[in-house]
Amino acid sequence: MGNKEALVIGLGITGCSAARMLADAGYSVTCFERASHVGGRLFEDIRANGIRVQVYGPRIFHTDNESVYRFLKRFGSFYPYRHRVLLSTGDKTVPLPLNSHSLEVLFGENHAHQILIRLQTYFPDRKRISSDELIRSSDEMLIDLGRFIIENILTLKINRQSPDSFIPADDSYANDAMVDIGTDDCYYEDSIQAMPMQGFLPIMESMLDHPSITTYLNMDALSRISILENSSRVLLDGVPFNGPVIFTPSVDRLFDYKYGALPYRATKITFHDEKRDFCNESAVIVTPKDPEYVRITESKQITLQDIDGHTTLSMETPYETMVKAHTEPFEPEITEANLAILNRYMDLLKNCTSLIPLGRMATYRNMSIAESIEQAQKMVAAL
Ligand SMILES: Cc1cc2nc3c(=O)[nH]c(=O)nc-3n(C[C@H](O)[C@H](O)[C@H](O)COP(=O)(O)OP(=O)(O)OC[C@H]3O[C@@H](n4cnc5c(N)ncnc54)[C@H](O)[C@@H]3O)c2cc1C
Repeated sequence: MGNKEALVIGLGITGCSAARMLADAGYSVTCFERASHVGGRLFEDIRANGIRVQVYGPRIFHTDNESVYRFLKRFGSFYPYRHRVLLSTGDKTVPLPLNSHSLEVLFGENHAHQILIRLQTYFPDRKRISSDELIRSSDEMLIDLGRFIIENILTLKINRQSPDSFIPADDSYANDAMVDIGTDDCYYEDSIQAMPMQGFLPIMESMLDHPSITTYLNMDALSRISILENSSRVLLDGVPFNGPVIFTPSVDRLFDYKYGALPYRATKITFHDEKRDFCNESAVIVTPKDPEYVRITESKQITLQDIDGHTTLSMETPYETMVKAHTEPFEPEITEANLAILNRYMDLLKNCTSLIPLGRMATYRNMSIAESIEQAQKMVAAL
């Protein structure tokens, strides 16, 4: 104890959690964050009307992992929250994931009834079935339903992938791609679904509030650390660093994009304050056919703030895939070609066991908040 040192690069939820767990385990932890604030993709802001918004779009905490939730609750209190999402097809608005009610509205009562019977026959004892499973079934009606979901929801929402190349890329997409055989209109199925009373930002700040953690904001870590190709050492300011280095940004920049940039999708989000109690029927409306917006979020329905006469909407427009980090990357574009690029970078890191890539960007995987924390827990347990 006492002499153990660790570096944490990037202070999103992964970096903040890892830093705190390392400090709790007796490490003296130095953190570098490129932005002027902590939070990463969970950063929040308060609008002039008092409404707290998630700057990079809605992030809902959901997990079946009790220990992740216990960890988070050390840093703030939470309220139970059931996330409800609607799909707007232009002329119809239905619960998403599609449920029996959605099928009735979209396809009429008789056809919906037929679909439900086939779903129950083909997938007995199942509650939710993915579009992927539907198109792999041998039932024409179910294959058509799978194609409907892919063509009308996923492809348009993701805005680029064809039905053939689609890989459910995100936990949110995975739910978009489901059909629920019953009437459940809750987006997630996890046993724990909750939101922090004061938002995620104070939770992350409180994680870093520990005498053994030193935080440097506005600090691009790559101006301080370096790794020689296939080397086993991380250098901090040119001197070998002996402790673990938790690395949460994208790995391509570590090697100056030698094998090309790993593509990420990004979203442009605009906020609109309205002088009304509420505007929408649910917290999130997915609008895949809208030429401009793919998703509209009414923050107050998530924060449950008691503010009369005001509400704020956030409208999301997908950007093209970014080739280099011109704007903050959101989510990895997972294709075989991009995973091949990732593997080449990972090969360069294979001797450098002290550098531990963690989180959504560094591992180029779509992970929820809970999965990021779980990954940090496993990392610390393995040290
Ligand atoms: C569209 C979308 C919707 C999502 N919805 C949900 C949801 O509803 N529920 C859920 O649980 N999860 C959701 N997620 C996942 C969740 O947002 C992420 O898992 C989580 O925020 C990732 O945290 P992170 O710390 O790994 O990465 P980030 O938050 O990206 O943090 C990385 C940090 O590294 C910093 N950094 C970058 N380069 C450098 C550098 N050179 N030096 C120093 N610092 C650097 C960045 O500034 C940033 O702060 C969603 C993700 C997306 C994309």
